[in-house]
Amino acid sequence: MIHLRTDEEIEILRENNHLVSDTLAEVAKLVRPGVTTMEFNAVAERFIRSRGAVPGFLGYGGFPYTLCVSVNEQVVHGFPSEYELREGDVVSVDCGTVMKGFYGDSAYTFAVGRIAPEVERLLRVTKEALYKGVEQARAGNRVGDISAAVQLHAETNGFSVVRELVGHGLGREMHEEPEVPNYGTRGRGPLLKEGMVVCIEPMINMGTKAVVFERDGWTVRTRDRKPSAHYEFAVAIRRGGADVLTDFGRIEEALRRS
Ligand code: MG
Ligand code: MG
Repeated sequence: MIHLRTDEEIEILRENNHLVSDTLAEVAKLVRPGVTTMEFNAVAERFIRSRGAVPGFLGYGGFPYTLCVSVNEQVVHGFPSEYELREGDVVSVDCGTVMKGFYGDSAYTFAVGRIAPEVERLLRVTKEALYKGVEQARAGNRVGDISAAVQLHAETNGFSVVRELVGHGLGREMHEEPEVPNYGTRGRGPLLKEGMVVCIEPMINMGTKAVVFERDGWTVRTRDRKPSAHYEFAVAIRRGGADVLTDFGRIEEALRRS
């Protein structure tokens, strides 16, 4: 079933997603060569708890950490580790919270120092694909309008769209209906209605769209080991357009200052 949220519920979802943005801004301040991804996890968990919330991913389906941290060819669901980031890496950080009975969920891909121009283009195009999807996220459109817009932007720029993982409704559960694929056909799929809250989260690969699930039971990586990028927004569907509940401005401000 697809939930339609009240304005009060949407404000709680906004609070959660702003907390996720603030947490990712704390991570942004740490991104540099030599930092371990486990340091991200420690800082994020402390920060979320200091705001009176609970990490949304920790223990979710048995996931053992506060953050999903996915480096280079890892697409999503990577484990934080003692790996020290190197100049030229890209690192996708996905973060969730629970507060007042609702979830927050967003992701951002960071460049570590100077990265190759083609990888920089992958990050830019993936973020643009997210914004193209958001433009379609309004009442009266269908999920397929979001999906097709994301896919078109990624593929016309020569990149590929992961099929195995998709966006989703967000509310009292982290993953609710409807699924929001990053590929699809305009005019198809569930009708978007005022009050729906969904996560739009393109996972875009530089090379093949094919992915491999690692033996740790969680990490997803590209089959050809070329890099992948991931950006995620939570948005509320309104008549006039999407009400974006995530605030990348907070993350990008932290990046500019560091
Ligand atoms: Mg999500
Ligand atoms: Mg996420």
